[in-house]
Amino acid sequence: MTEKKTALVTGGAGFLGSHLCDYLLARDYRVICMDNLITGNVANIEHLAGNEDFRFIKQDVTEYIYLPGPLDIVFHFASPASPMDYIKYPIQTLKVGSLGTHKTLGLAKAKGARYLLASTSEVYGDPLVHPQPEDYWGNVNPIGPRGVYDEAKRFAEALVMAYHRYHGLETRIVRIFNTYGPRMRSNDGRVVPAFICQALAGEPLTVFGDGSQTRSFCFVSDLVEGIYRLSLSSERDPVNLGNPAEMTIGEFAEKIIELTGSKSSVVRKPLPVDDPKIRQPDISRARKILGWNPEMALEEGLRRTIDYFRSLSPAD
Ligand code: UDP
Repeated sequence: MTEKKTALVTGGAGFLGSHLCDYLLARDYRVICMDNLITGNVANIEHLAGNEDFRFIKQDVTEYIYLPGPLDIVFHFASPASPMDYIKYPIQTLKVGSLGTHKTLGLAKAKGARYLLASTSEVYGDPLVHPQPEDYWGNVNPIGPRGVYDEAKRFAEALVMAYHRYHGLETRIVRIFNTYGPRMRSNDGRVVPAFICQALAGEPLTVFGDGSQTRSFCFVSDLVEGIYRLSLSSERDPVNLGNPAEMTIGEFAEKIIELTGSKSSVVRKPLPVDDPKIRQPDISRARKILGWNPEMALEEGLRRTIDYFRSLSPAD
């Protein structure tokens, strides 16, 4: 019998992190989940309590991390990740992308572990190239409200590449495009939970701007599969993961009203500062290197997500 591998998932009580914990446990990993719970939620991992391969440590990863025993891979997923959250926690967002990346890289180096950074399509900013390939350097406003997230992730990518080049660390970088699914927070301000919860409550859907801005939505199970494949691959350069099926936010609102059977109307709200006008991943690299392709159709993924939000009590 081969010895089980041990993975550290920072941000493991968050939306993506908790799905990654589930996936790794199903692949026979031991999982250490670390989260300070400022935007994560223990409800996302409570089904794992009692699993002897799972351990939760409540810690801010910008502080020194002490972990005894062997470690095979670090998945650095800790960060506020919705525009509303990183505007609410700007300093924490900058710290977890910079100091948190530094601490977790140092840990990986000390343990001889692999390292995978959760980066973001936000490194492309309000893109001038469409769709966005990995070799596009982006169009980011460093001092705008989103700059705290965008620049922290850009710095994190630079630090990861420095540890790779200077220390020879085995590193991977995934640039994650808009992802949705169960366990998103109903009040995180992102468009998927916002529209679904508004539609279920019979409230108007808040479309920001004229609704012509585009996004491309990937279901969480597809994303986690891609992340796992990337962790096993030998690709050191960043890899986009997302679903290229692009739509306008106005169309998306109509889709949510249709799938929930809601009688909600749509109201216009001001477009947030620096809100990207278009976003669609070029996933040629992931297709080629990882043999990966998103499989979940939007309507089916949205139905599962709607069912999840329906199952929550109003207090959740
Ligand atoms: N959006 C919207 N209404 C909302 C929340 C978001 O119209 O209640 C828009 C937002 O302006 C953006 C898109 O939906 O153009 C996606 O926003 P989200 O916050 O989900 O993430 P982003 O892709 O901007 O990081």
